[in-house]
Amino acid sequence: MKRTITHLADGRELIYFDRRDDADRSAIDRRALEPRPVASELRYDPLTEEWIAIAGHRQTRTFLPTGGTAECPLCPSSETRSSEIPSYDYDVVVFENRFPSFSTNFGTYEDPGGLSEVRPAVGRCEVVCFTSDHDSSFSKLSDSQVELVMEAWADRTAELSQIEGVEQVFCFENRGAEIGITLAHPHGQIYAYPYVTPRTKLQLGAARRYTKGNLFADVLAAERQAGVRVVAANELWTAFVPAAARWPFEVHLYPHRQVPDLAALTEAERAAFAPLYTSVLRAFDGLFGVVMPYIAAWHQAPVRVDRELGYLHLELFSIRRAANKLKYLAGSESAMGAFVNDVLPEEAARMIRSQIDHK
Ligand SMILES: [Zn+2]
Repeated sequence: MKRTITHLADGRELIYFDRRDDADRSAIDRRALEPRPVASELRYDPLTEEWIAIAGHRQTRTFLPTGGTAECPLCPSSETRSSEIPSYDYDVVVFENRFPSFSTNFGTYEDPGGLSEVRPAVGRCEVVCFTSDHDSSFSKLSDSQVELVMEAWADRTAELSQIEGVEQVFCFENRGAEIGITLAHPHGQIYAYPYVTPRTKLQLGAARRYTKGNLFADVLAAERQAGVRVVAANELWTAFVPAAARWPFEVHLYPHRQVPDLAALTEAERAAFAPLYTSVLRAFDGLFGVVMPYIAAWHQAPVRVDRELGYLHLELFSIRRAANKLKYLAGSESAMGAFVNDVLPEEAARMIRSQIDHK
């Protein structure tokens, strides 16, 4: 594997991850780009004890260009067109988001008054292109390509954890127009947050109060023993529908060994994840014979606290509940955080399991 760091015309970092050591990554970005926007502001909600990033500049970002590969900023550049990636081809590439919610490029922030505090949204947002093939998808990647993506995730997790003020690194993929993606090219994102996210805080709080062992490890062991919600497994990973799934189709993938983050996985664990995960993604697409919109979210331990409590896992879920029906977050979920799921988790597991192709 070869890793090459370069910079885009406006100073943003771009990193190539190549399978071949002789890949030529000398191409230069010659576009005339606007200066980078200053970091968003963080405002504190004293009622929920949560930080909200207010990112006014993101309204101007590129929204679903219609020209396919001819306009796609994530396709490689060509002789006639410059995209975000200067090279004419790539394996996996990561670069800083042009319209980041979090960055280290501070502006000035006025006190909003009330009981809220304000501070700069320090951190970093990166884009990960999973393949140079515009029409591919994560489910179609070869095992070795998935392993290269995992190397990139692990590398970024380790590096972003070093930024002063960063408390948690989140690697994720939004897929499908129904989820609200703004670009069709297969890609994911990485957020380095200046706080521990609300959901991680909740999970770690529960894990801290649980005294019989590690809560995540015990959930995994119990699901493996019950078996009824397990959809696929191999020697090093298990994929199961959680007993109290919030989403119509939701699968959690856990390594059998407790590790805090992606950087702590062994080569063997990365290799074992690839075929298992893509088989679950293909099973998702097989459920209704239409592309499943989904969110795939890596839960990693915070950077500075609770490293021994955290347990790396991937939470994958879709908002599609039938061929032509989507689950919308309406009153109960959006206003109260109280989920109502219309699909029995055991039935969802049976349906997903029946679509696993064991390729
Ligand atoms: Zn593209």
